[in-house]
Amino acid sequence: MTNAFILNDETVLCRQTPNGWWPVQVQLPQSDIDITALSASDAQPAYQVSRVTLLESLAPAHWLPNDNSSSINSKDADRLADFRIKTANSFTANDFTAQAAIAITYDYAKAHNVTSPKILESDGLENSHLESSLETDACAFIAYRLLITHLPVALSGQLSQAIQLLRWQTDTQFCSRCATPVIAATCGERAMVCPVCCLRHYPRVQPCIITAITRPNPQTGVMQILLAHHHRYGQQKTSNQTLQYGLIAGFVEVGESLEHAVVREVAEEVNISLTDIRYVSSQPWPFPSNLMLGFRASYAGGEIVIQEDELSHADFFDLTNLPKIPFKGSIAYELIAQIAHEQGITL
Ligand SMILES: [Zn+2]
Repeated sequence: MTNAFILNDETVLCRQTPNGWWPVQVQLPQSDIDITALSASDAQPAYQVSRVTLLESLAPAHWLPNDNSSSINSKDADRLADFRIKTANSFTANDFTAQAAIAITYDYAKAHNVTSPKILESDGLENSHLESSLETDACAFIAYRLLITHLPVALSGQLSQAIQLLRWQTDTQFCSRCATPVIAATCGERAMVCPVCCLRHYPRVQPCIITAITRPNPQTGVMQILLAHHHRYGQQKTSNQTLQYGLIAGFVEVGESLEHAVVREVAEEVNISLTDIRYVSSQPWPFPSNLMLGFRASYAGGEIVIQEDELSHADFFDLTNLPKIPFKGSIAYELIAQIAHEQGITL
């Protein structure tokens, strides 16, 4: 029995549950499995555009340090305990472990007569539709950005991978060197190969740093964090509409270390210097195919001067009085929440 998620661009077919919208897994028909699971010649999975096999994702419980670390000193033990509290608070239901699964596009499902549940129109999905779906048990395509706020990390990680791989398949049909149509690699790795010049095309991951910069408030000593309002967050339309703020982030340049990217982006966007730059954690982000690398740093000096073509405002905010920040589930939120937790503040 093979189950599959159904995706439509950056949306996922979901059913309303008491825990919120949850991805539906449909059963693929036996005939479909026979055709695609094994090709006649070499027992390799046959390649089909709009259908990808996802890795089994591990929940964070699998990579967090374990309890029986008797060799660590008491200071490290305190830090570890702190980290556990933080992790337990910020991730819910992380005992969930995703099984390997398949993801297909909605077009593929229709073309292969995959039986899917009744689907509400995703265009103009209104609250009334969402409420009625509770009664009808109907399903709807829900944006990944909305799902990430409540799904277990292992599951949202699989969906992130599905979005990226399905898009990579669509976008990787010709050799970028000689323009010959490419074919799937036969040796089991995920790559498209040019049959003429042999150039291999792999799914691309674009590293992107994101940095939480802190300092004590010069007047009060309260811990502060640097937040910026980006033009893409939109402008304030009415006086009581709250502006959204975020952390400083940017792509890593070719030939640059991650730490250098942190220093350069912060200097470019807000003109300040940093010290004590530390890596914290990462998050795949499928818009379009970024790997967000989360850092923390301390303010070292300089007056804030914003890069006006990207930002409209940036400043240090007391952790006790934050503006609107990125949504739960994003690495920006997790970095800010971690710092707040260290100060005894719950967001
Ligand atoms: Zn080629």
